[in-house]
Amino acid sequence: MFKKILIANRGEISCRVARACREMGIKSVAIYSEADRDSLHVKIADEAICVGAGSNSDSYLNLANVLMAVQISGAEAVHPGYGYFSERANFAEALKSLGITFIGPPPDAIEAMGDKAKAKAVAIKVGCPVVPGSSGPVANEQEAVKLAEGIGYPVLLKAVAGGGGRGIRRVDSAEELVSNWKLAQSEAQASFGSGELIVEKYVVEPRHVEVQVMGDSFKNVVYLGERECSAQTVRHQKIIEEAPYALMSPRLRKAMGDSAVKVAKHVGYTNAGTVEFLVTKDEKFYFLEMNTRLQVEHPVTEQVTDVDLVQLQIRIAAGEKLPFTQRDIELKGHAIEARITAQDPDRDFAPSSGKITVWNAPGGRGVRMDTHCYAGFTVSPYYDPMLAKVIVTAPTRQQAVEKLATALHEFQVEGILTNISFLRKMVAHPKFVSGDIDTSFVPKMLEESLVYAS
Ligand code: ADP
Ligand code: ADP
Ligand code: MG
Repeated sequence: MFKKILIANRGEISCRVARACREMGIKSVAIYSEADRDSLHVKIADEAICVGAGSNSDSYLNLANVLMAVQISGAEAVHPGYGYFSERANFAEALKSLGITFIGPPPDAIEAMGDKAKAKAVAIKVGCPVVPGSSGPVANEQEAVKLAEGIGYPVLLKAVAGGGGRGIRRVDSAEELVSNWKLAQSEAQASFGSGELIVEKYVVEPRHVEVQVMGDSFKNVVYLGERECSAQTVRHQKIIEEAPYALMSPRLRKAMGDSAVKVAKHVGYTNAGTVEFLVTKDEKFYFLEMNTRLQVEHPVTEQVTDVDLVQLQIRIAAGEKLPFTQRDIELKGHAIEARITAQDPDRDFAPSSGKITVWNAPGGRGVRMDTHCYAGFTVSPYYDPMLAKVIVTAPTRQQAVEKLATALHEFQVEGILTNISFLRKMVAHPKFVSGDIDTSFVPKMLEESLVYAS
């Protein structure tokens, strides 16, 4: 087993990985920017190395600085967390050439899934249903119009290299497509370094259901159930996630799980990964993309499978075999995660920053808090607005919903603005309580509240 691991990330996920390391008797090394000096992730790791000034490009995304920190630290392995370098094949390659283990899939598996067009091609090859659309990047707007006419409007223009809900644009007619094409291309080029776009059918009111997979270096790949993440902002960012998917039937779970495993096996996948699908009301499912990393919402899977996914990632990276087979995996109870963000729900979720003066976090049986924040910590404007994840676990979905409402009721934050008041409304909404949600739930709820307000 490794003696020392460097965590190439920040915030709650860096804390999460450091905890796993300590439990396994492995020394952890945090990296931090000057703006993150006082973050909990710096305090709970065994060592910490500053990698630059506040902005991401100067620190967490400064490849030379991060690689230097890895070498100075003497770490034998690097955990990339999510975001940042987690899905950059060149980062995994660079580590490999330094003789350091990347805790994640092999670089060519990252590469194969790193682009939405390539990933869909793999899914098609293994017989996994995909959202109808172009079979690869579309050359120009004439091609795109031709395709869209075949598929039927509305369609989505998607950046092949997009992520985090960015780079997705809905168009409802040929005119709209033509007028949006160049803009979508140049935005994609500027944000993701590739202007390539795919055209995809816009699935109306689907549910987002994703399958957690885990593979070892002995060609074993299993799925650890699924998560539903239909509660998304207007910008396709997940806010509340749960496991299992409330409407999952054993038949659908097996079909989706088997498909996800086939996709993973086809690209020689190892370590943790997530295959994302859209599910329609008539139980049809369509492959969306694969995220070749640990996911923000991984805790809900941990809660219902009783598997520590981060510890398992580390063991697999160290060359161990999966300690179980598909048959051993059982799902028990229901878990729901809510993302607490520094965003103002009354001002279109504008980011908020500043010093946290009051931080009274919820607790009690079945309540898990993953966070890097505390009273006195200053939230800087440089980073993702996520402050914490509240994860509740209970025997049934109804009990989990009640527990989440209680936890959110308890959660008091002052000094900065948060989305907590909005989350409270969300979990009290009859549709959320009954589990009758799809990806249009939050946008519709926002419209309702505007109607009430006016
Ligand atoms: P998850 O399902 O794990 O929540 P997200 O798509 O929300 O996945 O991404 C997780 C994190 O990684 C977020 O902080 C998001 O901002 C960041 N992220 C993911 N992909 C990209 C990308 N291509 N460019 C920039 N940030 C990204
Ligand atoms: P990202 O890389 O940004 O996560 P995804 O392709 O995973 O992009 O899509 C993010 C979200 O956008 C989905 O969870 C879903 O809500 C919405 N979405 C994506 N593709 C479609 C589609 N074809 N039809 C309807 N909604 C979609
Ligand atoms: Mg996605």
